[in-house]
Amino acid sequence: MLIDRRSLLTTMLAAGAAVGANQALDAAPCTSGRIRRIATEEGFAIPELIEAVSRYMRAHGDQEPGLPELRNGFPPLERFPWGPPLIDFERRIADMDRDGIDHAVLLVMSPGIQIFEPAEGLELARLVNDRAAEVARRYPGRFTPLAALAPQAPEAAAQELERAVRSLGMKGGIINSHTKGEYLDDRRFWPIFAAAQALEVPIYLHPREPSPRMLAPYLDFGLSGAMWGYAAETGLHALRLILAGVFDEFPRLRLVLGHLGEGIPYYLDRIDNRYRAQPRLVPTSSQLQRLPSEYFREHFWITSSGANWAPAVRFCQQVLGVDRVLFAVDYPFEDQPATVAQAMAIPMPATEQESFFHGNAERVFGIAPVTRTRLAGPAPPRPGSPRRGATAA
Ligand code: MN
Repeated sequence: MLIDRRSLLTTMLAAGAAVGANQALDAAPCTSGRIRRIATEEGFAIPELIEAVSRYMRAHGDQEPGLPELRNGFPPLERFPWGPPLIDFERRIADMDRDGIDHAVLLVMSPGIQIFEPAEGLELARLVNDRAAEVARRYPGRFTPLAALAPQAPEAAAQELERAVRSLGMKGGIINSHTKGEYLDDRRFWPIFAAAQALEVPIYLHPREPSPRMLAPYLDFGLSGAMWGYAAETGLHALRLILAGVFDEFPRLRLVLGHLGEGIPYYLDRIDNRYRAQPRLVPTSSQLQRLPSEYFREHFWITSSGANWAPAVRFCQQVLGVDRVLFAVDYPFEDQPATVAQAMAIPMPATEQESFFHGNAERVFGIAPVTRTRLAGPAPPRPGSPRRGATAA
């Protein structure tokens, strides 16, 4: 049911609401409660995973040169600044309630389970997924966990995705970029994409530090992390998938990238331009059916994790469409209250705000819509404004 904005405006003016006409119109969809906020790239871990990473790194840290800070394992949880919020879901719920986050899509923290040998990786994936499903059941309507996958055993990873979706009710998978320096454009990983397409769930390609073959120049100045290395690594990974023809093979496959598409939207025109001008540099170019940007626009959704900067978000909405850009925080690595304030200040028409903060997430991750009146938080109905009743938001 659509709200009648004209009668709402009349009611508000009659009630002496101290707002200008344009403000009242812009605010109309929010008058009976604030907008629903779904954060779509929120990190978590379980204690067993943190212990297993520490154990592995102490014994085989030389095999993961991108993680020099973990060579002796994680420090004790209480001294590791993100440790407690990563594993404590009571605290997370309290933070979400405080900051007005209604629902969170949960992703196992980077590098997740991809550093382990295949058998241990698979075992940890199952444990992480079982725990995440338990958490989602314990807090109904608050969490949508994605399935942690261990690509080092591709067939088993595909089966685990199927188990997680069919038995645990998960709505997608998450892979933290490279696995032992290997990228998913290698056909041996494609059973994972086949499973995702058949199950009609997206794969979230989440960052980690650059792979060993490109790591060295990033190790200085802290550049291997979120400042630049994550985007360089994960943007490269996404482009490799496109240029390898993954999306010709899997025409209904959906991918999600964080950090506003890891820089790719900004380069879309240049990527196509050079692809056209230098096709001989792309060995698969004679077989690809479309331009790189066309695959990106059709198969990728992007989130604003760690990147809720107004001009960049508006640019991405402009070039990809408002249906492609989803709100995210990147809890606990980002300051959540500051991120919510920054995102709410992005100038955006009300309908686009609805898409950005929850509508797109509901569609991409199959999250049930809720009625607006069920949302907790500030901004109660103004006196004299009509109630929206049971209208779906
Ligand atoms: Mn993240």
